[in-house]
Amino acid sequence: MHMDANTAAPEDILKQYWGYDDFRPLQREAIDCVLAGRDSVVVLPTGGGKSLCFQIPAMCMPGMAVVVSPLISLMKDQVDALRSNGVPAACVNSSLSYQERIQVSEEIRSGQLKLLYAAPERLLMENTIEFLQESNVSFVAIDEAHCVSEWGHDFRPDYRQLRTLKRAFPNIGIHTYTATATEIVREDIAKQLDLHEPEVHIGSFDRPNLIYKIERRSGGIKQIQEVIDRHPGESGIVYCISRRKVDETTAELNELGYRALPYHAGMPDTQRKDNQDAFINERCDIIVATVAFGMGIDKSNVRYVIHSQLPKSLEAYQQESGRAGRDGLEAECCLFYSTGDFNTWSRLLNQSGDLKARDVSIDSLGMMLDFCTGVTCRHRAIVEHFGQKLAADSCSACDVCMGDIELVDDALVIGQKILSCVIRLEQRFGGEYTAGVLKGSQERRLLDNGHDQLSTYGLLAEESQRTIRDWIEQLVSQGYLSRYGEFNQLQVSENGRQVLRGEVTPRLSKPLKTAKKSRSESKS
Ligand code: ADP
Repeated sequence: MHMDANTAAPEDILKQYWGYDDFRPLQREAIDCVLAGRDSVVVLPTGGGKSLCFQIPAMCMPGMAVVVSPLISLMKDQVDALRSNGVPAACVNSSLSYQERIQVSEEIRSGQLKLLYAAPERLLMENTIEFLQESNVSFVAIDEAHCVSEWGHDFRPDYRQLRTLKRAFPNIGIHTYTATATEIVREDIAKQLDLHEPEVHIGSFDRPNLIYKIERRSGGIKQIQEVIDRHPGESGIVYCISRRKVDETTAELNELGYRALPYHAGMPDTQRKDNQDAFINERCDIIVATVAFGMGIDKSNVRYVIHSQLPKSLEAYQQESGRAGRDGLEAECCLFYSTGDFNTWSRLLNQSGDLKARDVSIDSLGMMLDFCTGVTCRHRAIVEHFGQKLAADSCSACDVCMGDIELVDDALVIGQKILSCVIRLEQRFGGEYTAGVLKGSQERRLLDNGHDQLSTYGLLAEESQRTIRDWIEQLVSQGYLSRYGEFNQLQVSENGRQVLRGEVTPRLSKPLKTAKKSRSESKS
């Protein structure tokens, strides 16, 4: 039923099977590279349209493409979607019955299939490989390829084994796709999979239609509610760190009259699937979820993504927030964090056995927190993290550029007061303690240490301790202070010394408008 495989042009396939007129940026390049038989690493942000980069050449080339995909549930959805578009696709995974497996083998043998989706553990079984070696495989596509790398945020040991593919199929292209790859992950993917001089295509990481807003969490459900209320009847995702938090937040939202469903790995599969379907088919507006939710979910009209707690890395944030506004229309990404979230994550990471992975994760977590406390354009901070530049000076689509965050005029003096205090404390104390000294706190341990006698004691007494704490975080995020040691003690960096000498001025935000607002709200 499908068209002549040798002659079909990508544009025609795009139009005929998907009904689209034009390719998105880099799709065409990525497709050409598959057609040319080269290996490749393709990095496109979530929503960039990675699937078509391998689905279309699979339709253009003779034989069948093998697609490696990490999640069984996802695979089935994609195959169903392809079949309903008239694309002959199937999947093999552990959930298939014997009968279904036989049927797939038949379809492969008869040469009908254009795309075969497989979970890595299934694909790597010896008899599967042998069977495929005898079939006409056009190329291999590895989706969510960052799972190969320990430097990525979702390392999967099964993925690492995929390097045998190059040996098993020396003459066909291996193509890897991910939404999130810093240079180090990108290079690791190529290395781990033994790719041969891969062509690398990297899309822009900026998502101009997303509006980023980041606030310190002021407790309760109120902040979340405000975002939801800006989007009545629209779809949104609320991310939490733990399953317990997911359940609590769902209950709170439902009590307030919203239609919210939970999603996390602790729920029975069927219920999780039902909730996901309800969200996708708009029987519920809000899904409250752990990071288990979302990989590969294709819902284009998510109008907001709320992080009710700190994400574990900028990679994860980019990917999770990127699930908003895939249709290219405006969408809002709001993040509510506290420094306590940092500790929650550290605890979770400390439980993981792999020391190297843990160190990488703690570093990533630190960068995430710095991003939150930072007062530079969010779009810029994200793209720079991925090694790119933002074309415009101001994005007009984040809290910083929209003026939600105002900068203080006397940042140099304030910065100097804080840095001097860190030095007076012999660089042996953490942020909270240092803020206490600057505030002139009567806290017991501080008096016991005699720190009320320091010349910097009470230097910022007119500010709230919370504000001083924020400024300290901002100085860390701009590299004037750094944290070290088990208790995140603060020390002044070389750049910090320049501030002390008056050579550079840090950027410090005024106590937040939102802080004022939530205070007046809590009174009302
Ligand atoms: P990714 O895997 O990169 O996150 P998908 O492949 O799921 O993105 O594509 C995201 C959405 O964009 C899908 O709904 C897809 O059908 C749509 N899409 C992809 N390419 C195009 C295109 N060239 N024109 C219009 N829509 C597209």
